[in-house]
Amino acid sequence: MYVAAMKKSLTFFVPLAVLTATFILLPRIATLPPAHHELALISPYLVAVTGMFLAVHFHRGRPFTALFLIALFHFCYRTFLAGGITGIAQQGFLYTFALLLPPNFALLALMRERGILSVAGRLRFTFLAFQAGAAWLLYRHHFEDLLPLLTRPFVTLAPLDNLPVPQPILAVTLVSLILTAILALRRQAPIESGLLGALAAFAIACARITTPDLPAAFCSAAGLIITLSIIQDSYNMAFRDDLTGLPSRRALNESLHGLGRRYAVAMLDVDHFKRFNDTYGHDVGDQVLKMVAKKMEGVSGGGKAYRYGGEEFTVLFPGKRSADAIPHLEALRKAIEEYRLAIRSDDRPKDQKQGEGKRGSRQGTTEVSVTISIGVAESGDGQGTTAEVLKAADKALYRAKNKGRNQVCT
Ligand code: GH3
Ligand code: MG
Ligand code: MG
Repeated sequence: MYVAAMKKSLTFFVPLAVLTATFILLPRIATLPPAHHELALISPYLVAVTGMFLAVHFHRGRPFTALFLIALFHFCYRTFLAGGITGIAQQGFLYTFALLLPPNFALLALMRERGILSVAGRLRFTFLAFQAGAAWLLYRHHFEDLLPLLTRPFVTLAPLDNLPVPQPILAVTLVSLILTAILALRRQAPIESGLLGALAAFAIACARITTPDLPAAFCSAAGLIITLSIIQDSYNMAFRDDLTGLPSRRALNESLHGLGRRYAVAMLDVDHFKRFNDTYGHDVGDQVLKMVAKKMEGVSGGGKAYRYGGEEFTVLFPGKRSADAIPHLEALRKAIEEYRLAIRSDDRPKDQKQGEGKRGSRQGTTEVSVTISIGVAESGDGQGTTAEVLKAADKALYRAKNKGRNQVCT
């Protein structure tokens, strides 16, 4: 529980830290010498280009698009809006961005990653070009008719009345922010929380569009948040297992290097998993691996869980002896043994209505359970490489299997 909560807050840490730093540093921009000040004003482009380069390198179409939109917004701001919202053209630009960018960010958060120049990627840019074209046509021919609709206030609230963005557009921003936040919370993924942070930065830039230096600072912040999310995402790709979300074998190898002299290692293997897969199918097998991983994440005694590969897992206990680790591994073994995973039984009714009825009465599901075997080994006093300790744990695991499975052996 604690670990899960920590992870949740970590996903949002980077966007929050960047936004806070931007607020703190903002007053300093005005005091910069002219050359540095000019640099601050072009920094959104520098950040966006850096991020887009990374996005291309990692085939990340969603952050690429987001960075492009932020850079485009900053370009329009510098070209048309820097002198203030003085006429209908400035209003047109601001309203177009403020109205269209937030739902597009929410859409990016909703979509799965499909690359940049793939069919989906090209479709995305076609869709954006279509929106720009439609906005231009509406602005040219119907802006005056649309203005009352775009600017009609819902409530009379002094702080809202002073904003350059009218209430209906603010409502769209708010809904987009909420949707993106829900997606970021549900998926716990860096790109989604990056999009959320960048959208918040964009909203701040729009709300304070006339404050000198502020839009540039928050466009830089938006770009930085997304760029950092690409780095975080690619780190996760390398060091996290996709199916279970646990650190991968590569992460385990890294951790093994950093261990002190004293540690215990446990190797875990799901019992008769092949038979389980054959009976219930690979999908249910995957569900079981996810369940096992979740239980392992919550292992007590300072243990850190990894997916070693297939249905094999590893738990490291830095600073512990086998004897210290065993009670925690026993608790883990028991928790997995006792867990009942509900799966839809094969004879589930095809008819939707009937299906719901059956699900309600829990007749449409079967409960399955698995057991695991665990082998533990500890570091010797200064001697024995980590590979040897790992091998000893593996041997202990085989002893556990031979003794009848569902047990912890040393
Ligand atoms: P034992 O009790 O001796 O460990 O028997 P077992 O059947 O679990 O052992 P074995 O190593 O022969 O089988 C492992 C099986 O795990 C083989 C493979 O089908 C399955 N497996 C490996 N990785 C995955 C995965 O990512 N998803 C699913 N569903 N199955 C996997
Ligand atoms: Mg195995
Ligand atoms: Mg097995």
